[in-house]
Amino acid sequence: MMTADRPRAGVLAIQGAVEKHLVALDKLGAEARTVLRVEHLAGLDAVILPGGESTTISKGLERLGLYEPLQAFAGAGKAILGTCAGAILLARECSSHAVRTLRLLDARAARNAYGTQVDSFAAAADADGAVEFSGMRCVFIRAPQFGDPGPAVEVLLRVDGRPVLLRQGNVLAATFHPELTDDLRVHRALLDRAGCGAS
Ligand code: GLN
Repeated sequence: MMTADRPRAGVLAIQGAVEKHLVALDKLGAEARTVLRVEHLAGLDAVILPGGESTTISKGLERLGLYEPLQAFAGAGKAILGTCAGAILLARECSSHAVRTLRLLDARAARNAYGTQVDSFAAAADADGAVEFSGMRCVFIRAPQFGDPGPAVEVLLRVDGRPVLLRQGNVLAATFHPELTDDLRVHRALLDRAGCGAS
């Protein structure tokens, strides 16, 4: 693939599971780099907000002045994927904790919603008509749950009836960690949405 044709994707690197997202993007032929400052968003087609601690990442977003630039990035039609803590940060609101969110996904997030009994687990998801994701195995680590999705939100995957992969236009939110398996379909969907036709 020609360098000039490679999609450019960034991974927010304030805290959390950054490295494996960079590897997944690289495997799909994207030019992947970390994002820690507003200037790093320039020229990117897509951004990933990784898992980690949403409270810590939100403080970093505040400190670095990244809330408005990320909202403008999405508003310009660029693609954004939030995984786990990153998905919480995309939500309209976080009901269980005072986390400032980006309000890019019209749904309510609840942090650590599976409780301590099932801090981490893997499960096969049901594709809600989104056959491109069928049979996906999802890894959950102190995962959030999403509720009350607005009319613009599509639920692409569910586990036990609960939404685990949601999409609103160019914004994708996964309550699980797609970077921890070899299944690259969520990252590919991000790059496809960035209009780069990565394969
Ligand atoms: N429990 C974390 C939070 O609420 C999310 C965990 C994760 O990203 N794996 O921010």
